[in-house]
Amino acid sequence: MRRISILGSTGSVGRSTLAVVDAFPDELSVAGLAAGGNVELLAEQVHRYQPELVSVRTREDATRLRGMIPAKTEIVCGADGACDVASLASADAVIAAIVGAAGIPPVHAALRAGKRVGIANKEVLVAAGDVMTRTAHEHGGEILPVDSEHNAVHQALRCGTHPEVERIILTASGGPFLRRELSTFDDITIDAALAHPTWKMGNKISIDSATMMNKGLEVIEAHHLFGQPAEKIDILIHPQSIVHSMVEFVDGSIIAQLSTTDMKFPVQYALLYPERVPAPFGRLDLAKIRTLDFLPVDPERFPAVGLAYQACRTGGSMPAVLNAANEIAVERFLAGELPFTAIVDIVRRVLDRHAGSVAAIGTVDDALHWDRWARNEARGIDVAVRR
Ligand code: MG
Repeated sequence: MRRISILGSTGSVGRSTLAVVDAFPDELSVAGLAAGGNVELLAEQVHRYQPELVSVRTREDATRLRGMIPAKTEIVCGADGACDVASLASADAVIAAIVGAAGIPPVHAALRAGKRVGIANKEVLVAAGDVMTRTAHEHGGEILPVDSEHNAVHQALRCGTHPEVERIILTASGGPFLRRELSTFDDITIDAALAHPTWKMGNKISIDSATMMNKGLEVIEAHHLFGQPAEKIDILIHPQSIVHSMVEFVDGSIIAQLSTTDMKFPVQYALLYPERVPAPFGRLDLAKIRTLDFLPVDPERFPAVGLAYQACRTGGSMPAVLNAANEIAVERFLAGELPFTAIVDIVRRVLDRHAGSVAAIGTVDDALHWDRWARNEARGIDVAVRR
């Protein structure tokens, strides 16, 4: 029996993780849950999975939750509470699905406690990848990618050694605006940007998919996870999202991973690796799908991709700044403060301002420092919304 903790249990990946627990009752059980403000759903989860420890965002939420769940489940709160859940002694593995930079301290705590961490929160690796991989190495922790592309790459890499890798090929759906007329990008509404064609996801990642910043962040994530330079990580648009990513080896062989588009696949892989077990999450019928399309990325349509490659090559604090500026720009777009195209403009301007002061990221505090700096910069940039 593997005991697991979930950071972000009420979100989309968190709920998929609990569905995986349901599917493998003999293999998996829940030790701890951390959630944000959705106290009602968290209370339901506690009744069903009986964790020993849960964490919520605020003291008020903790008080409310206390009245809703049995006394045997301990309740903690805030950033420290999430770290307590992440490093819980009785847990073997942690699924990290807290959105954004808030996931950095708890993932670090989990790795320092020697846990296996299934990382669905790519921002953690983008902003503090060097710290996370080093901490895992020093404390016997282990990072398994839950992001579907990196999970696919992890599987494909089992076919060869590190020096045998020619390049990693991350596939991208292209999002909702792959074929939209470029001259109309300023008129993109929030609802249109949230309507992802193949994956059901949270709001932040849906907008990142529409700008393709998501894929840019994934290039940086792949760089840290697999120890490859930006030059050996390519992006290929694949609108069907059936091939989740590929690895090309030096002999010209390309190994791809295919499955239905369901986060339960990468979650169960990360939790049960290196075993493969019969899973009930759907099968592909390739004879029905018949066609798999691939096309290159248009850099004019998706300028976010170029910015991310540039940040990856620069390294140090630049990816943390990219990530934080993007988080704020997306937040401002979702609040109706910005036109769609201004998301990338804001990120570019913050990167330009940072170019002269790029620093090494040696600790979690370094990452959080530059994260805060970039957030402030991104908040302060004035952009007029055209109505
Ligand atoms: Mg992904």
